[in-house]
Amino acid sequence: MKAAKFYSALNIQIEEVQQSKIDDGIVKIAVEWAGICGSDMHEFLAGPFFAKSKVTLGHEFSGTVVEIGAGVTKVSVGDRVVVEPFYSCGDCDACTEGLYNLCKKVECYGFSDDGGFAEFVTVRESRIYKIPDELGFEVAALVEPTAVALHAVRKSQLKSGDSCAIYGAGPIGLLLVQVAKVIGAKEIIVVELSEERRKKALEIGATHVINPENEKPVKEINKIVRGGVHVAFDAAGAESSFIAALASLRHTGELMIVSLWEKNVSFSPNMLVIGERKINSSLGYRHNFQEVIHLLASGKIDGSKLITNKIYIDDIVKKGFEKLKNDKTQCKILVTPKESNI
Ligand SMILES: [Zn+2]
Ligand SMILES: [Zn+2]
Repeated sequence: MKAAKFYSALNIQIEEVQQSKIDDGIVKIAVEWAGICGSDMHEFLAGPFFAKSKVTLGHEFSGTVVEIGAGVTKVSVGDRVVVEPFYSCGDCDACTEGLYNLCKKVECYGFSDDGGFAEFVTVRESRIYKIPDELGFEVAALVEPTAVALHAVRKSQLKSGDSCAIYGAGPIGLLLVQVAKVIGAKEIIVVELSEERRKKALEIGATHVINPENEKPVKEINKIVRGGVHVAFDAAGAESSFIAALASLRHTGELMIVSLWEKNVSFSPNMLVIGERKINSSLGYRHNFQEVIHLLASGKIDGSKLITNKIYIDDIVKKGFEKLKNDKTQCKILVTPKESNI
């Protein structure tokens, strides 16, 4: 079968590889669509970070069950499914407390084990969720990143009627906009450099957008909501956005960090103390796939608005990774190993 193998930065190859054998408790899925994530881009541009050499990338995917190992009862052949790609040890402190996303030995399909940029992928039964007919395979490939946004918003103190600012309108930032809307946030203010992404943010529910290149975000936010926002989400991962996000909080406001960081940040703790502000963080998700599937299937979150391109697996480097690097109008690019899908 065809698979997109990661070797090192700027080196992803489409290869013909052997299909894995189906052991007990394992399910084989024929992949329909798989999304390219910011973390895949990270591996492509400057990796390896988490990706093992020669691993098949891809952790945001949907497909159909084509074979099940002995003892599998949760799904049957023909079921339409998505996969929660992280799997934890089940034994450490975090796991026994149910906080499995914080497991120190956590592993992930698409980084430590072969993932969804392939014709078939084999995964543990426990990681699989069936999807309803109303949820198409394309939008189903967005369940995983939507789970990231839902977890971050749920972990934050944002309530119905509150105001929030979202720094960075890549796929996660745009999904934060949609989740904040579902929660009932009154003002959803997006700070983003790219004009296309600002436009997209307004289309899907942002109430205001700010271009930090020629407007001062904190000043503009204070014009919109007196005293600042209840919650600011950092989905940009840069010092300038971190500082601006902190400074745009009202008293007792909360900065929720959703991004991972390449560099350190320097700030004065007085920014917190004066006003009793706080910093919180969110890593991946836990126990929320079922809810996300419902939000996307019911259309409460419109995943289709994020999909800017759909490509065949052979074109994954040129029309996928390189396009995302060079073309900031792109948001979520989906990849299929089935020629009939294109
Ligand atoms: Zn991802
Ligand atoms: Zn664990």
